Amino acid sequence: MACGIEFYRRKKIVGLGGSEETQNFTLFLNNLFDTLNRRYASEGITKSSNDFKILENAEVWLNNWEQLLHDSKISPNEFLTCSTAEGLRVTLRSSIELCRYLLYDCGFNYVLTGKMNQNPLETIRQQKLSNLKLKVDLLIDEDSWKANDIFEDHNYNEATALNCIIYYATGYVTKKIIKNTSCILCLNALKNNQKYVDIPEAELANLKSKGGLTHPNIHLFHFLTKVEESFATHCQHKNVFDLTVDDVLNFPILFPCNEHKSQVVSSILTNYLIMRMRHFAVQENRKEKKNSREKKKIAKLVST
Ligand SMILES: [Zn+2]
Repeated sequence: MACGIEFYRRKKIVGLGGSEETQNFTLFLNNLFDTLNRRYASEGITKSSNDFKILENAEVWLNNWEQLLHDSKISPNEFLTCSTAEGLRVTLRSSIELCRYLLYDCGFNYVLTGKMNQNPLETIRQQKLSNLKLKVDLLIDEDSWKANDIFEDHNYNEATALNCIIYYATGYVTKKIIKNTSCILCLNALKNNQKYVDIPEAELANLKSKGGLTHPNIHLFHFLTKVEESFATHCQHKNVFDLTVDDVLNFPILFPCNEHKSQVVSSILTNYLIMRMRHFAVQENRKEKKNSREKKKIAKLVST
């Protein structure tokens, strides 16, 4: 394609004048797609492969382009949508890291990026989820769980900021689940229709909602508080999800709908943990960025 543009421009074809940038762009994307789509051993990515350079350059290109938006030099519709930019960034970074890991840590001779896809991960996730449902199923008591009798034994004078956030997050997760369920029993268990909840943990939710937001069921809040505690002890581990789930399966939880209990509780748990892991990753990235900024500053100080 890029060659075609050049060929016809040289032939002075009308409409192709000044098409050098288009040609470069086409070449760039073409190379990038090739890099992400290696299928045969002979073209596989190796340690000395130019493909690493292509992927890294693409990251720089994306960042520079985005910087123009941050500096208000271009308008939002001259950049990718947020989710596209983020998706592309994740693809580039994870391809680089996965290739490096396989080549340097696992001793692969070459990597075929065209064979990478999310399906195996998805299968593992599905398996984990069904295991989780099974376990939760055994765990949950069928005792009745009413939204309104829950605040009685509450007697806190003040809540920590963390508790307020967990309370708020519980409401958020609940809202997501409620959207996907039509079972009256489940809905009654999940919903708490009070507009203002007078416990200290609800402060943030009360503030944010101005009376309109979902307050979570207090059992759920207590459950996720325990989940959070467990998450905090495992968050530095690679398999934080599994470790936390293993812990969590020791906590008792009640849910009134026999038919959907394992599904609902598993879903609440996975939603919460995924949200939490994302948040944790963002925090860690920020820390790392700050560290490298500081290192650069020090380097500058030293060199001048
Ligand atoms: Zn139900």
